[in-house]
Amino acid sequence: MSKRTEKIIQLFIPAALALMCIVIALLGSRVISLEKRLAGYRAYEELGERENRLVQLSWMEENAYDDSGISDLAARVNLPGDASLAYPCDEYDPHPSDARGSYNQSGVTYAADSDSDGIHRVYLTFDDGPSIYTDDILDILDAYGVKATFFVVGRENTASYARYLRIIEEGHTLGMHSYSHVYNDIYASPESFAEDTERIRTLLEDVTGQTPVFYRFPGGSSNDVSSTDMHELEAYLDSEGIIYFDWNVSSGDAGREPLTPDQIIRNALQGIESRDTTVILFHDTAAKKSTVYALPSIIEAIQAMDNTEILPITYDTTVIQHDHP
Ligand code: ZN
Repeated sequence: MSKRTEKIIQLFIPAALALMCIVIALLGSRVISLEKRLAGYRAYEELGERENRLVQLSWMEENAYDDSGISDLAARVNLPGDASLAYPCDEYDPHPSDARGSYNQSGVTYAADSDSDGIHRVYLTFDDGPSIYTDDILDILDAYGVKATFFVVGRENTASYARYLRIIEEGHTLGMHSYSHVYNDIYASPESFAEDTERIRTLLEDVTGQTPVFYRFPGGSSNDVSSTDMHELEAYLDSEGIIYFDWNVSSGDAGREPLTPDQIIRNALQGIESRDTTVILFHDTAAKKSTVYALPSIIEAIQAMDNTEILPITYDTTVIQHDHP
């Protein structure tokens, strides 16, 4: 090989290597920027889908913006006594003998008590929402890093759609609590119950894109207002793959006589350390500001207990159902 050829090769190889490095670096950065753009498009699409869903749903908005739906619903619920106390939920009714509003455990069925792992699991459940307080409740849960369960009714306005979505997006469980919450309608017959259940399930599916699978009976499964055999309705839910949950602690926040936040705190915390599974009943309605005031102290107290966790209801949750004839 001539010296000249040798020199050319000596110059050419490093130059070629340098050029290749530059090309690789350029291609690499191009790939990274394309990936970033793709991720951006995906996020944008997701956001668009979410907004689309809200827009598509706005046709359902029958009434003008109604934050609570309370007055409308209350007018349709036949509550005895003072009409000013009328609100859609009567969960306290089945067990009026307990003045403190705490459900007597003797009527509660526990499953899987035998394989206790020593951890006390606490489930905060909020019935009757969404309401003007849903966002406050969600903000508090977020601040404490706690996930809960919301058993909601049918509210067809954009504020409520946004709240259904927020519940799911923030990792909470969105359960059903009937569409209308009007006892006379939903418990009139197995058919009317099925119709009501299908209505709330479809609404939540349309709004969130997820099928709800957990249910809480208005008044609980042990209610004494249903004119239909509750066992028949329970069998219907089972056939639909829906799991119903009652509660074994009532915060008492739906009592006819409003409780102070301190009383709600005392009720909610009863017996948590003596049980494997505690499902606490709260209410998320425009009439229940005390619940919002009580919530931070309740969460702090539970978080301070040993071997205790606050969790959202999932398929893993030990089912708590009332024993009833
Ligand atoms: Zn209710």
